Amino acid sequence: MNENLSYKKETVYKKTDKSNIDAAFEYAEGYKSFLNIAKTEREAVKAAIDMLTPYGFREYNFGDEINVGDRLYYNNRGKNLFIFTIGSESLKNGLRIAASHIDAPRLDIKQCPLYEDSGLVYFKTHYYGGIRKYQWVATPLSLHGVVITKDLHKIDICIGEDDSDPIFYITDLLPHLGREQSKLTLSEGIKGEQLNVVLGNMPNTDEDDETVKTAILKLINEKYGITEEDFLSSELCAVPALKARDVGFDRSLIGSYGHDDRVCAYPSLTALIESLDSKHSIMCILADKEETGSDGASGMQSDLMLDIMNEIASAFGISPALLRANSKCLSADVCAGFDPTFPDVFEKMNSAFVGCGAVFTKYTGSGGKYDTNDANAEFVAWLRAAMEANGVIWQSAELGKVDAGGGGTVAKYISKHNIETIDLGVPLLAMHAPYELAAKVDVYETHRAIAAFYNFD
Ligand code: MN
Ligand code: MN
Repeated sequence: MNENLSYKKETVYKKTDKSNIDAAFEYAEGYKSFLNIAKTEREAVKAAIDMLTPYGFREYNFGDEINVGDRLYYNNRGKNLFIFTIGSESLKNGLRIAASHIDAPRLDIKQCPLYEDSGLVYFKTHYYGGIRKYQWVATPLSLHGVVITKDLHKIDICIGEDDSDPIFYITDLLPHLGREQSKLTLSEGIKGEQLNVVLGNMPNTDEDDETVKTAILKLINEKYGITEEDFLSSELCAVPALKARDVGFDRSLIGSYGHDDRVCAYPSLTALIESLDSKHSIMCILADKEETGSDGASGMQSDLMLDIMNEIASAFGISPALLRANSKCLSADVCAGFDPTFPDVFEKMNSAFVGCGAVFTKYTGSGGKYDTNDANAEFVAWLRAAMEANGVIWQSAELGKVDAGGGGTVAKYISKHNIETIDLGVPLLAMHAPYELAAKVDVYETHRAIAAFYNFD
């Protein structure tokens, strides 16, 4: 009797059978491959298009026809993707939307980046997103991004990922001379302007110019055909030169750069591929700029989502307001997993536990639920039914203790358009660190949760 009355959170291992755990481990292999080839938003867009193309998806441009059965994507500047399928039921019933982001915290290279000091050449950086700066020194880095020359020629750069590539590096102070630095707080120990990336040390061989900077510029010019001025129109960043790996004797966890938010983007895509026969119309959004506030043309504060939804509505002769009003959205993003090493910042009853499945986060924000979407109880109840019908293991959580801090997602930028929205995702340990931790079963349950959401009647 009491069993039925009380709610108890349990692990995926306890609640499902071996075949589901095996499926989660197998699913993790594809996810790790995705992580290794999609470290930036531009790389993630390419990887997503490569995943979708075999299933008959094609590029949509404004003005194109939209018909029942279509599988389309709108590629926004190579940095943000709107993927949508048109199901057989009336568009009056709205879209099932899953919105995740494909940008991740990193170190962006400045526009005038190159300098030489004391025989070493460096790139200056400006960190992107909420990093803890001390975590980014003394660790292997790779360089990713694009340089656009004045004649609009695009040069893709990715160096430091292949085992035969060189990597890059930011120095820290040796402990022997770190007495004063060690007295500083974690946020001050390494300062933004100290995150300078070492590029080389060997001087040029010309007698009239023996600088290391010239030698490095020559190498860059030989390899990429660019000059120092071309960095003005570049988007380059340094990210950890680390591959996704199994973690633990039992291999139950995955360590990787950029789980946040590929750990939701990848399941949104695989769930979409699994749902191609759904009668519902589905939209899968891979957003950029979430980590810096969703501003800009490729972030979710842009009107592009509305523009595309308006085109869909007009293609089927229905009111765009009606399409929005009956749409539902999962803002697919990560949640903090309870960390027993740092229990003080969590409230256990409302924390997400690693291994307990996908996490629904009714609200995020901070300081008394400021700055957040707060999902309607009716919508949560509908989702409970959807998850139960599909045997999905999930938990409900908020980020941490009241007033311990806070954060946000794209949820509020979608729900403001009169679209029912809730956050769903994977609990992470060490979120925003250069190497984050997630459980395989949680990634897989998130895939299953999104598939259930796309398909539930
Ligand atoms: Mn995120
Ligand atoms: Mn984040």
